[in-house]
Amino acid sequence: MPDILVVGGGASGMVASLFAARAGASVLLLEKNEKLGKKVYITGKGRCNLTNDCDRDEFLAQVARNPRFLYSALSFFSPRDMMSLLESAGCPVQVQRGRRVFPLSEKASDVTRALASCLRDAGVRVRLNSPVRSLVTESGRVVGVRLENGETVPAQAVILCTGGLSYPATGSTGDGYRFAAETGHTVLPPVPVLVGLETEESWPRSLQGLSLRNVALTLSLGKKTLYSELGEMLFTHFGVSGPLVLEASCHLPDPPRGSLLTVDLKPGLSAEQLDARLLRDFAAAGKKLLRTELSSLLPARLADIFPGLCGLPSSLPCSQMTAPQRQKLVAVLKCLPLTVSAPRPLDEAIVTRGGVSVKEIEPGTMRSRLVPNLFFAGELIDTDAHTGGYNLQIAWSTGALAGRSSVDSQCEKSRQS
Ligand SMILES: Cc1cc2nc3c(=O)[nH]c(=O)nc-3n(C[C@H](O)[C@H](O)[C@H](O)COP(=O)(O)OP(=O)(O)OC[C@H]3O[C@@H](n4cnc5c(N)ncnc54)[C@H](O)[C@@H]3O)c2cc1C
Repeated sequence: MPDILVVGGGASGMVASLFAARAGASVLLLEKNEKLGKKVYITGKGRCNLTNDCDRDEFLAQVARNPRFLYSALSFFSPRDMMSLLESAGCPVQVQRGRRVFPLSEKASDVTRALASCLRDAGVRVRLNSPVRSLVTESGRVVGVRLENGETVPAQAVILCTGGLSYPATGSTGDGYRFAAETGHTVLPPVPVLVGLETEESWPRSLQGLSLRNVALTLSLGKKTLYSELGEMLFTHFGVSGPLVLEASCHLPDPPRGSLLTVDLKPGLSAEQLDARLLRDFAAAGKKLLRTELSSLLPARLADIFPGLCGLPSSLPCSQMTAPQRQKLVAVLKCLPLTVSAPRPLDEAIVTRGGVSVKEIEPGTMRSRLVPNLFFAGELIDTDAHTGGYNLQIAWSTGALAGRSSVDSQCEKSRQS
């Protein structure tokens, strides 16, 4: 019988298995896919932004949901610890802009390969193509798991590392939510975050593929600003995406009704400076069409439709622009509105918000408060963070802590009996 059974061989499951094995347990890792870490392969567009080289308080400031719950896990296994683990496993890392950490090779596959070799060295048994169907419980404790093929695998403790519901083709199909609910845990509804946003306006679709750099994006609800940042965004076939929009999606109310995005296309200029520039440019432009002249300020595709967005005829010559028309242009350049209709669905989200309630998990051990030999780690738990390597670090840290404390709790139990 394995001492510790880990369900799910993604980011959190690999590290949980490693820590349990290094603490002396016999560990069996069950993964439903044909390989470990399928999601890790696609992180950071295949480059894997594996953590963020910041201290604990800076890290917790980037956690959108339940930051305090992660305090002990991050203290137990920090971003620096993860960097050292990979370095010592033959996967050197580099710190890039925003203290984002990547493997030196910029290949996510090297991260998985390094972890898989650690698992081998630590003696973890890995069973691939082994989907777990349910937990087997007796007298309020988990005694093992049942596989889809009907086989029952016994265990003294189980760590659930099955991930969330985003990108289900990587294996995270929400099974752990069901296992948690069946053992009496509260599971908060899954919500997509770090995801593109659909807009009521259809014009963004005509600009599909166009990326805007150095713009300021603001998300607001009524008079309340929920998010505002400078950076890059992208128009898509459904509305908007890109780094700024993904971050904004973390702050989107659920339901999103009434949420408004506004884009400041010229954040470096005040409205007065912009008006003065247009006045000068239009005087020099003479009979040139407005949309042609605007292409010196905006990407050509946006310039083409911009007069229409301001309620002006696109064939208007610059020389005929009135002061109110120019002011309207300035107003829209500084505050281009987009009404959010919905986030894109979960299967397109980088991360799933929601999951097993942190109130039912001990933060110092990752152990269930309801089932004494059941542990949780990773995205399955109701905590998530912004982009920058924080979500993977949550998986590494909670996995490490769950792995280690699952063994400690077994030792404690055998001392007592
Ligand atoms: C496109 C994309 C890019 C991302 N980029 C980054 C990034 O650069 N940096 C960052 O910090 N975060 C990134 N993330 C988020 C990050 O990948 C996840 O937060 C992290 O992988 C969660 O780890 P996990 O172990 O909880 O879940 P997962 O990595 O999803 O692993 C869960 C594992 O459990 C297995 N499993 C599920 N159910 C069962 C079952 N019943 N039986 C057996 N096995 C099962 C699955 O097959 C899977 O292997 C990205 C996510 C996506 C989708």
